Formats: sequence, C-alpha cells, structure tokens
Amino acid sequence: MRRYSAFAIAREGARYHTGWERAWKSPAPKKRYDAIIVGAGGHGLATAYYLGKNHGIKNVAILEKGWLGGGNTGRNTTIIRSNYLQDPSAAIYEKARSLYETMSQDLNYNVMFSPRGVMMLAQTEHEIRGYERTAHANALQGVATEFISPQRVKELVPIINIHGPRYPVLGALWQPRGGTARHDAVAWGYARACSDMGMDIIQQCEVTGVRRDGNKVIGVDTTKGKIDCDKLGVVVAGHSGVLADMAGFRLPIESVALQALVSEPIKPCMDVVVMANTVHGYMSQSDKGEMVIGGGADGYNNYTQRGSFHHIEETVRALVETFPMISRLKMLRQWGGIVDMTGDRSPIISRTPVENMFINCGWGTGGFKAIPGSGWAMAELMAKGESPLADEFTMWRFGEGKFIDESVAAGVAH
Ligand SMILES: Cc1cc2nc3c(=O)[nH]c(=O)nc-3n(C[C@H](O)[C@H](O)[C@H](O)COP(=O)(O)OP(=O)(O)OC[C@H]3O[C@@H](n4cnc5c(N)ncnc54)[C@H](O)[C@@H]3O)c2cc1C
Repeated sequence: MRRYSAFAIAREGARYHTGWERAWKSPAPKKRYDAIIVGAGGHGLATAYYLGKNHGIKNVAILEKGWLGGGNTGRNTTIIRSNYLQDPSAAIYEKARSLYETMSQDLNYNVMFSPRGVMMLAQTEHEIRGYERTAHANALQGVATEFISPQRVKELVPIINIHGPRYPVLGALWQPRGGTARHDAVAWGYARACSDMGMDIIQQCEVTGVRRDGNKVIGVDTTKGKIDCDKLGVVVAGHSGVLADMAGFRLPIESVALQALVSEPIKPCMDVVVMANTVHGYMSQSDKGEMVIGGGADGYNNYTQRGSFHHIEETVRALVETFPMISRLKMLRQWGGIVDMTGDRSPIISRTPVENMFINCGWGTGGFKAIPGSGWAMAELMAKGESPLADEFTMWRFGEGKFIDESVAAGVAH
C-alpha cells in the first residue's frame, strides 16, 4: 500500500495556513476591462487563466461575491476521472484530466494531484453491462479504463466486503490514472497565476445586474459600482439561473444542494477512490487520514449550502454494507454546496442570446474534475467565438434535442 509522507503533509498544511493566501487583498475595480468573469470558483479562474495564457487577453477582472474558492470548488470531494460514455464528454473530461497531470508544474503551485485510481463498483447485472459498455467506448476514445473482476477489486481495496448482504461486488470500472487533487489549491493556484498576469480578482463584489446596449453586453452592475467590459463570461455554478435572469434569458438548469461528510482521521487504509452508485455513496481517504464520503443531492430545488441529518444516515448506512469497518468511525464534519443540474447531466459552455455574453455552467455533481478542460474551452470560446471542445455543449441543444446523455456516468456519481 502507498505510504503518505508525514513531512510532505505537514509542509503543505503550513503553506496553506500561513502563506501568501492570508495576505490576499482584492484591488479596487477599474472602470473597464476587455473581459469580466463572474465567479471566482475553479471554472471561472481557469477561464481567466487560459484567456491570458493561451490568448494573450490579460485586461481581465474576476468578480466574486464571496471569497475565492468558497463555492463548490472548496466543497467538493475532489474526485477526478474521465470515464464518461459520450464522445464530447470523454474529450473534455480527458483533456481536463491530462491537464491535472502537469498542473502543479504549470501553475508552480502544488495542487497535490494524486492519480491513485478510481473504481466504480458494479453491484448489479445492469451495472456490469453499463460499465462494460463504457470501457469499450473509452477504448475507442483513447481513455484508459478497464472492467476488473471482484478479486482484483479486493486486491486493490482490502477493506471492502465483496459479498455484501444486498449487493455483492460483481466487478468494477477501473481508471488507474483517475484520482484526487487538493480542491482549494486548484483555486489558489489559478488565482495566483491570474494575478501574476496582472488580472484583478475582486472578492466581496456581487454582480447585481447585466448592462446591455441593445442586445450587446456592455458591463455589469456590482456591489462595488458599475464596471464596463467588452466580453462577459458567467461562471457561477448554482447561481447560473440567477445571472441568466439578470440578462433576460432562461437556462435549462435546476439548482440543488449536494452534501458530503468526513470522518475522524485514521491510519492509511484505502489508497484508491471507490464509488458505489447502487448503494449510493462513495469514499476516498484524504492525506490527513479522514474518510471523505459523498452522498446524495436534496430531493428538491434549493440554494442552501448546508447539510441535513437524513443524508448522514442514508449515506453511511449504504456504505457500511460495502465497508463494514466504517461502522466504528465517528463522523467529523458535514456540508453542502449548490450544484447546477441540466436535464442530460452534461454541462453548458455556450454563447447566449446576449451578444458577447458567454456562459459556463451545468457541471452539476461532477465539475471539479473538469476545471482545467472547461476553462480551456471557455477561454477559447470567448477569445475566438468557437472551441472544438465546447461545440456540442451549447445551451440550444435542449431545444434541438441533441442531448449528451450522461445520466449513468454523472447522476450523483462524481
Ligand atoms: C458536496 C459536493 C461534492 C462534489 N464532489 C465532486 C467530486 O468529487 N468531483 C467532481 O468532479 N465534482 C464534484 N462536485 C461538483 C463540483 O464541485 C462543481 O461542479 C464545480 O466546483 C462547479 O464549478 P465552480 O468550481 O466554478 O463553482 P463554484 O466554486 O461554486 O464557483 C462559482 C462562484 O460564483 C460565485 N457567484 C455566484 N453568484 C455570483 C454573483 N452574482 N456575483 C459574483 N459572484 C457570484 C459564487 O460565490 C462562487 O464562488 C461536488 C460538489 C459538491 C457540492
């Protein structure tokens, strides 16, 4: 089993809590920018970064109503994988996964990418068929995955019970180069790189209106005053519908709270990520030793960023069947984030009915893994008016019936 270096963990901890981040101060906004990005989550910051790095557009402001990475970016369970079914999804998620491989070097910031391997358990005959199909599709797409036996699952995860009372483990879809990364480091890494390029990251600056001249965007109203721009990128995850409303159009998005929890820290016992979609829960072990556990979304639309008791019970009860040892763990923290769900469970990276206004949203329960690929595509779309990675993800596909159905790969599974 892979060992974690106590020194490396302590060093990273010190850097996070005493370093440059605490000294961060938001600059006063200028009157005009070439581009404004609304939302300093991972996707917004990555968009700004690739606007500067790939397209030389650096007169950019990123406006954030709260604090850097305080939305879903800092609330997710950090799973990274690219084993989706449809070709457009595999292209953008694999682009993102491959960018994660060199992100620490590219940003000169340790994002602690850990390609420890991700497995999605097959616990019904139906899931075997589904995952075998995905493995074949991935082979054609150039995404390295395989369907593995229950015995191989047990070798990789000794703490698993493959003879579960209701749902035995019948195999798994295994992506050896999937894994995790430190989520707040991803936000901070991109933020520092944007700042180094001269971009303004302005926190505590809520966008309250979208200003237009005819059908063309000319700027935004914010809690820090009016700011003009040539191009506007809206990257606000769970608040996408609210921003679209300000600009006068509607999005096929529902906002729902998604919850997660962590246990007390324990010794290293599981060095891969395991997702059990039939019993509905997934788990990995953080560098600190906590078991990071993800569960379900609320059954109704809402904007609450907090947890609720019945999710703890439902998620832990489900996972105890597959991992009996967690029945003796104490749970430490629970939280929620607002995820933006589309009907086909695929994202929107698109122009909008308003000229020079672009939107990136709909990543739902699984957008952390997509951050670099999404930022790459959104920046290209904003700079050039089109991007091969984003072509299929327009907001008009719902009207045209061109769904990219990822409900199996992305339902509540990350
Ligand atoms: C509990 C949970 C677990 C998850 N687990 C995973 C996982 O394991 N793997 C995975 O790939 N994905 C996961 N996700 C999903 C992933 O976190 C999201 O899809 C992704 O983070 C969303 O994009 P973002 O990072 O840009 O959004 P956010 O970080 O939410 O950024 C949007 C920002 O916009 C800001 N904003 C909103 N309105 C305004 C306004 N009017 N003016 C200015 N700023 C505004 C918000 O404050 C916020 O900071 C999970 C999500 C949750 C909640």
